[in-house]
Amino acid sequence: MFPDRVAQNVDLLIGDGRIAALRNSGSASDRIDEIDLFGCMLVPGFIDVHIHGAVGVDTMEADAAGLNRISEWIATQGVTGWLPTLVPAPDADYTRAVAAIEEAMKSTTGARILGVHYEGPFVNSAQCGALRQQYFRSFVHNDSLDSLPRLANPAAVHMMTIAPEIQGGIELVDQLKRRGWIVSIGHTRAEFELLDKAVAAGAQHMTHFMNAMAPFRHRAPGPIGWGLLRDDVTCDVIADGIHLDRHALELILKSKGAERLVLISDAIAAAGLGDGDYQIWGESISVTHGRTRNSRGNIAGSVISLLDAVHTMQSLGVSEVDLSLMSSTNPAKLLGLEGECGSIAAGKGADLVALNADRKPVLVMVNGELAVSAA
Ligand SMILES: [Zn+2]
Repeated sequence: MFPDRVAQNVDLLIGDGRIAALRNSGSASDRIDEIDLFGCMLVPGFIDVHIHGAVGVDTMEADAAGLNRISEWIATQGVTGWLPTLVPAPDADYTRAVAAIEEAMKSTTGARILGVHYEGPFVNSAQCGALRQQYFRSFVHNDSLDSLPRLANPAAVHMMTIAPEIQGGIELVDQLKRRGWIVSIGHTRAEFELLDKAVAAGAQHMTHFMNAMAPFRHRAPGPIGWGLLRDDVTCDVIADGIHLDRHALELILKSKGAERLVLISDAIAAAGLGDGDYQIWGESISVTHGRTRNSRGNIAGSVISLLDAVHTMQSLGVSEVDLSLMSSTNPAKLLGLEGECGSIAAGKGADLVALNADRKPVLVMVNGELAVSAA
């Protein structure tokens, strides 16, 4: 699977964690360990830029070992890279969570932790979704940004979801860009003019498009109308069949095109555990038939993996090439990691997934090491 085509009978030579060469099948003479993937489709590993937890572990409370348990489980779902995503919280909680991420990045097992995604705290309380409003902040001074912990690891990516209409919102975007952060617009009710200013200041993406934003109205198209129109802005979507109706997904796909879409899970700690009642983010969240609900009656993230999102998009007739764009190539680009991962090419990191005929991962490779192998 390449960014522009499906190829058959190709050998991949992997060394030092990277794809060293691509050759026609059978031409390699210097094989050392050979893995036969006959009948499988090899795709670039999925990258999830928005995930709060899985298998009972929440990113706000996890230690490094807990984060690695998430990494190991999502690797079985074809994910090779992810951004632990943090919800609005007091400074002390952020500090603990970021310290755990820093620690886990030193010895990740399973999918690689690529950095951190702050979902908030600079977002609109009128579009809080499942986030806790009492921890929302306005941007009054650089101190309010500097007090948020960041990862010391120089390779770490920092991403933040913000609402430009909060006090100091455009200045916030500017300050984030100056610090090298990726800025995504979400949990917002902003109008066109302000959204245009946010892009001019450096915002480039929209978080769980259509969810937790002012609804589209024909006389007030708001952030949804704006996002559908702006070709220079990418969007991510929760394709769990619950957050977005299938026809809404089709509309987004038709308007944005696969090259501007990113699949996310927005999974919470209950992912991978099945239906039940869970204590997450200080409140009780129930999961019934895969639908999450908090005590306020709001949908509270998903319990899917990125693999489920890929299957949903596949059921809409999305091509293999476009599935890889949305699950790997585009998120890699969003994070500025397209030189590292997100496609199968000589020189790229060997983050690969082999899918069988049922599109189930039978082999997952991270940095050239086998993370999952059922082949
Ligand atoms: Zn989220």
